[in-house]
Amino acid sequence: MNFMKKSARIFVAGHGGLAGSAIVSRLRGAGYDNLLLAGRGELDLLDQGAVRAFFAAERPEYVFLAAAKVGGIHANNTYPAEFLYENLTIQGNVIHSAWLAGVRRLLFLGSSCIYPRLAPQPMKETDLLTGELEPTNEPYAIAKIAGLKMCEAYNRQYGTRFVAVMPTNLYGPGDNFHPENSHVLPALIRRFHEARLAGAPEVIVWGSGTPLREFLYIDEMADGSLFVMNLDEATLAGHLLRYPKPCFVNLGSGVEVSIRQLAETIREVVGYGGKLTFDASKPDGAPRKLLDVSAMKALGWEAKVSLRQGVEETYAWFLRNIERVRG
Ligand code: GDP
Repeated sequence: MNFMKKSARIFVAGHGGLAGSAIVSRLRGAGYDNLLLAGRGELDLLDQGAVRAFFAAERPEYVFLAAAKVGGIHANNTYPAEFLYENLTIQGNVIHSAWLAGVRRLLFLGSSCIYPRLAPQPMKETDLLTGELEPTNEPYAIAKIAGLKMCEAYNRQYGTRFVAVMPTNLYGPGDNFHPENSHVLPALIRRFHEARLAGAPEVIVWGSGTPLREFLYIDEMADGSLFVMNLDEATLAGHLLRYPKPCFVNLGSGVEVSIRQLAETIREVVGYGGKLTFDASKPDGAPRKLLDVSAMKALGWEAKVSLRQGVEETYAWFLRNIERVRG
């Protein structure tokens, strides 16, 4: 049984992004047709007054908070002020306004980088704030931790039902394929593709190739998010609203690969025959980042799409949208 009625008024903040657009597709596919979407031109989520007025006027019942400033290791390192300010401000505005407007449930999207750099692997929800963060994305992680603590604080003080999911590295159709600012998976799809077309002898992969990462296909993130939002009241309360239990749950595939293995998979899918060269002058970031997904499994959800399958879908989308990607 779904908790949210098909006619429910649902606001997806950040519906133009990778995560938000997948959530909108998933909702529409499930028959939700009363979606509230506002483009950047209509609603600036950094503007506190505008966000408050929007909630007061539109009265959404449910909110998916998928709006965020995101990027890969280089972007996080280059724009730390923007990552901290924009994420803190957007989530502060949306969460506070959701409370003022009496939103029934809100789902905040976090990130697996909230966990300590050297957390035991796989990382459990209870590992939060047990050690130092990975410096290359600390500002982003601090903002995401503040966001989920804000959900928790509002639940404790005001009795709201604001919960969160912590997705692992996401990828898929609609991703950002920027050569420097994107995440590793889309960056390598583009680099291998362009190297194949140019007949280039080698492709540069940043870092040592040894860091281990877990990837989740974006449609599965959307499916898992909808699953959490639709949990019945007793399950939601029992698992996510009993402070000091965490108000969030990990969302991952439970499978990790090295950056080298990832690069080999992408090379095969793209059909590039040249060699891989690792550029050790670029940062590796966290050595390992695997989520413990047993809490979601216990609730009844798990990921199914393999990395190979997801990379194939993403490359097919890239080829269909190549002009847009380059734009
Ligand atoms: P992270 O998970 O926060 O470290 O985010 P990224 O997706 O940006 O990087 C993951 C790993 O892939 C890091 O070890 C990077 O050094 C490595 N990597 C290899 N080539 C690239 C690339 O072209 N772009 C990015 N962003 N990372 C790369």
